[in-house]
Amino acid sequence: MIACLGRVVHGSDDDVSTLFNSLNLQGTVENGDFSGIASKDFGGLNSVKPLYLIKPSGAEDVARVVKAAARTPHLTVAARGNGHSINGQAMSDGGYVLDMRSTSENHFKLVTVNGSPCIDVSGGALWEEVLTRCVSRYGLAPRSWTDYLSLTVGGTLSNAGVSGQAFRYGPQTSNVTELEVVTGKGDIAVCSETQNPELFFGALGGLGQFGIITRARVKLQQAPDMVRWIRVVYSEFEEFTRDAEFLVSQKDGESFDYVEGFVFCNNDDPVNGWPSVQLNPDQEFDPSHLPQTAGSVLYCLEVAYHYRNSDDPSTVDTAVSRLLGRLRFVERLKSTVDVSYVEFLLRVKRAEEQAKANGVWDIPHPWLNLFVSKSDIVDFDRTVFKKMVKDGIGGPILIYPLLRSKWDSRTSVALPEGEIFYIVGLLRFVPKGPSVEKKVAENREIVNWCIKEGWDFKLYLPHYRSKEDWKRHFGNQWTRFAQRKASFDPKAILAPGQRIFKRGTTSTTRQ
Ligand code: FAD
Repeated sequence: MIACLGRVVHGSDDDVSTLFNSLNLQGTVENGDFSGIASKDFGGLNSVKPLYLIKPSGAEDVARVVKAAARTPHLTVAARGNGHSINGQAMSDGGYVLDMRSTSENHFKLVTVNGSPCIDVSGGALWEEVLTRCVSRYGLAPRSWTDYLSLTVGGTLSNAGVSGQAFRYGPQTSNVTELEVVTGKGDIAVCSETQNPELFFGALGGLGQFGIITRARVKLQQAPDMVRWIRVVYSEFEEFTRDAEFLVSQKDGESFDYVEGFVFCNNDDPVNGWPSVQLNPDQEFDPSHLPQTAGSVLYCLEVAYHYRNSDDPSTVDTAVSRLLGRLRFVERLKSTVDVSYVEFLLRVKRAEEQAKANGVWDIPHPWLNLFVSKSDIVDFDRTVFKKMVKDGIGGPILIYPLLRSKWDSRTSVALPEGEIFYIVGLLRFVPKGPSVEKKVAENREIVNWCIKEGWDFKLYLPHYRSKEDWKRHFGNQWTRFAQRKASFDPKAILAPGQRIFKRGTTSTTRQ
């Protein structure tokens, strides 16, 4: 059924609406003027209006829309996951936005691949839907997560998808065995390491440039029942990185199951300071345990240990104590709670609920995420953490190490050169007003500083506007990226909000 709501007001719309009426979509269509969500994202920094917001019912609808756009000289198609981009990446200015959430119920089928369990899920499903269904129905769970799960499968696979398990299993892009993709030509293709591998690896981390992911086959493992969740504090960056790198370099079974970390201020600021560390609200952070040498910035290592209800509590205590015993955190600055596995994975959802209640969830988020090589992370700390953002950013400053060898170099993700690199996330919450522009400028200054110093870094969830910047970002992968574009989306119809290629040609970018 097609439901064209409201007036048609854009460009050559008579043609377009005629086209739509001939498409025979199973989903629904809304005029861009009335489609609030399509012109908004979590960043709150950009807003452009699409021509139509389409809620497809599945891959066939997606293919029909892409083919319809291809028949016009100018229209583009943006798949919108849950709109959690920062810089308008899921928008289409005057084109078609596909709300992939309308396909979330498709698939959801347990399959066995070479004796191992996997789940087939829609590209429009949220990871939290995958979690709750897999755990409750099968006692199984994906191996690699994002911290926050109200993100779509297709959205994170188009970037990478990282969290505290990625040191062991790699990013989410290393944990799928098959995709169904609608290419920029409107073809529906199933791809894997052995079937259409160029499309498979291209789409993983491909920023939506080569196809729209309508189904993913995600690897599963047995879900634990419980998680011991621990935070320990460091005053010295070198000790924090030494311990974090030690933990992520241990063999399977000889480390924690999750390793992350963050930077916080050595003061009592409720958002940026000591109160941000305690896991148990009944415990207070006691700064008297800090050494005299502690500076204005401190570091917290966050780890988690999985166990089952049937495990002997003393076995869990012993294993955790043995691991903690090898770390050099500030004695007595440790916070621990035991929570269910699902509760642990939904931890950011709880923070979202609180932020919504306090009215700070829907304010602008000029976030900056980078991958910074171990070789430059001490300089990064000295320049960025200890100077530029030393007073906090009104949100978390994440930092934890990842291992390049757990990422597949055939995917489209651009990474630093070093084997150990850090994800750094400046997750700013900024009230509407002039300070938003200032924070955007501060992010730009950090990126420019990294470039000027010649640091080994890449933007994660990259956002560039010029061809030169994109070429520099992809480095020696640029040719492959451009060739994949020419093969799978030669008219540059897909994901225009990334601003890499311009409709009509694959050889130029927007300036
Ligand atoms: P959207 O923002 O809607 O889309 C992102 C891009 O992917 C767009 O270019 C879009 O066109 C394209 N796209 C969307 N769906 C598809 C599809 N099915 N096929 C092809 N292309 C598609 N990232 C992490 O790695 N780890 C984290 O822990 C993490 N935590 C986050 C927490 C919060 C609160 C937020 C806001 C973001 C977080 N992110 C994290 C970033 C997240 O991975 C990106 O925002 C990502 O874009 C996924 O969001 P989405 O599903 O809403 O996709």
